[in-house]
Amino acid sequence: CGIVGYIGTRDAKDILLNGLEKLEYRGYDSAGIFVTNEEKDSHLFKAEGHISALREKVDDSVKANSGIGHTRWATHGEPSVRNAHPHQSESKRFSIVHNGVIENYQEIKDAYLDDYELISETDTEIIVQLVEWFVETEDMTTLDAFKRAIVALEGSYAIALIDNENPDVIYAAKDKSPLLLGKGDGFTVICSDAIAMVKETDQFIELKDKEVAILTKDSITIEDFSGEKIDRAFYTSDLDS
Ligand code: GLU
Repeated sequence: CGIVGYIGTRDAKDILLNGLEKLEYRGYDSAGIFVTNEEKDSHLFKAEGHISALREKVDDSVKANSGIGHTRWATHGEPSVRNAHPHQSESKRFSIVHNGVIENYQEIKDAYLDDYELISETDTEIIVQLVEWFVETEDMTTLDAFKRAIVALEGSYAIALIDNENPDVIYAAKDKSPLLLGKGDGFTVICSDAIAMVKETDQFIELKDKEVAILTKDSITIEDFSGEKIDRAFYTSDLDS
């Protein structure tokens, strides 16, 4: 239902949790964050119910400067910790959050992931398993595997992905669900609604359908599936933080 992401030098846990709280008005049944750092020391926290329940599960001592977060409104699979996002690939290398509905998830499972024992009952998990499948089976780069997986999807999605082998990059894509990219001094953010991140920055770019974004703490690159770069100016959000 809601997505947040942060990559920079500050405490990612705090920024993600605050962002998810701002998205509470949209309604949700569970929430989670995946956070990591330059040492690739990654942590996944999920909880049913309110963000306060998630906050209680998050270990304060974890050092994190990048991460993704999600509030879920279940469409496939009951509301539960297991079905809450972020979802991870089999090796746990890749983590993903997704808003929307993947209509052909069963076809994708049958075509590529037949011998996978999926962990959750969601339509989302096949995306992250498919990214790993392309990286491992076809020896693709993460960006190429991400694009290849996205092209296979039918339905609606806003997605953010982290490859823990390269934890200072966030990949994002969307079709029919909103996704904004934001930038401040030495950090970038992702959110499904600017309200989640206006406390951090008022500079946003709207990602458009079937575009892919690559974020580092200092840069946002947007391209189409063929790799053609897209130039888009930031707008200034007038929302109050
Ligand atoms: N379809 C996904 C699920 O059920 C995402 C739902 C959402 O947008 O929150 O997990």
